[in-house]
Amino acid sequence: MLPFRIALAALVAAVAVSSLAVVPVQAAAPQVRMQAPGFYRMMLGDFEVTALYDGSFDLPVDQLLKQPAARTNAALARHFQSLPVETSVNAFLVNTGTKLVLIDTGTGGYSGPTSGTLLANLRAAGYRPDQVDDIFITHMHGDHVGGLSHEGVAVFPKAVVHAGKGDVDHFLSQAEMARAPADARDGFTTAMNAFGPYQASGRLQPVAADGEIVPGVRAWGTPGHTPGHTSYVVESKGVRLIVTGDLIHVAAVQLEDPTVTVAFDSNTQAAEAQRQKVFAQAARERTLIAAAHLQFPGIGHLVASGKGYAYEPVNYQRGK
Ligand SMILES: [Zn+2]
Repeated sequence: MLPFRIALAALVAAVAVSSLAVVPVQAAAPQVRMQAPGFYRMMLGDFEVTALYDGSFDLPVDQLLKQPAARTNAALARHFQSLPVETSVNAFLVNTGTKLVLIDTGTGGYSGPTSGTLLANLRAAGYRPDQVDDIFITHMHGDHVGGLSHEGVAVFPKAVVHAGKGDVDHFLSQAEMARAPADARDGFTTAMNAFGPYQASGRLQPVAADGEIVPGVRAWGTPGHTPGHTSYVVESKGVRLIVTGDLIHVAAVQLEDPTVTVAFDSNTQAAEAQRQKVFAQAARERTLIAAAHLQFPGIGHLVASGKGYAYEPVNYQRGK
């Protein structure tokens, strides 16, 4: 019997092997780990507004915000967040019907692999860079101007670029760069590289005063975060959107307590004052705001609450 048993065992083993070969072990489906193209579209009166996602940064906000880390951590916990805080980088494309306007340009990919997708998302949203007529820069930090140029060439070949005169005089000045601390000089170089092709072709227009630049879009000086930080008010048919640039970085903290400032501010007192002024007006007048670092798409309303604000993101729209 022994040989038969051995033969049977061999047969069972062979069947097991062959059935393994026919029906392979199922692995779980691989995780995909990406989002849909990052754009969000809404109408503002007759204007079409498209938020463009450039990517995100993981920020150690407990070290960046000018308050005790324990307070920051407690605020994050209240909002179901933890360190580091993944922070969106948003820009905004406005089609007024007569002009295609881009407000800020993202990092251009110079800040690492987690950002730099603005151009891909602009195309995914149905536009081309050569269609952009005017670019409005809120301020000259790299995550807002890096996308202007690539290797010395203007990414937006026909656009006129508008930026606050305070930033033009600061970030595009060799003398100011020479005066700056060594660790701040990279920021100057980034801005100079970004603006170089536009300056060379006479397409940089400093914004020296508040007022309308193209029909339906006006500048509102909000200096503090940088010397020439500028907000832009977009308005159609009485519906208004204030694009606030970097008046806020950490929603979970600075909405509840707008007095908290951040290490990126060049003048913390002025930056806080501008945040308080613009946010109070937006809440009082029930005006939409759009911000570069509120969670994508970064468009919503502020509601006065305690000594700060609650944030109501826009209701999702189908795009009309
Ligand atoms: Zn920024």
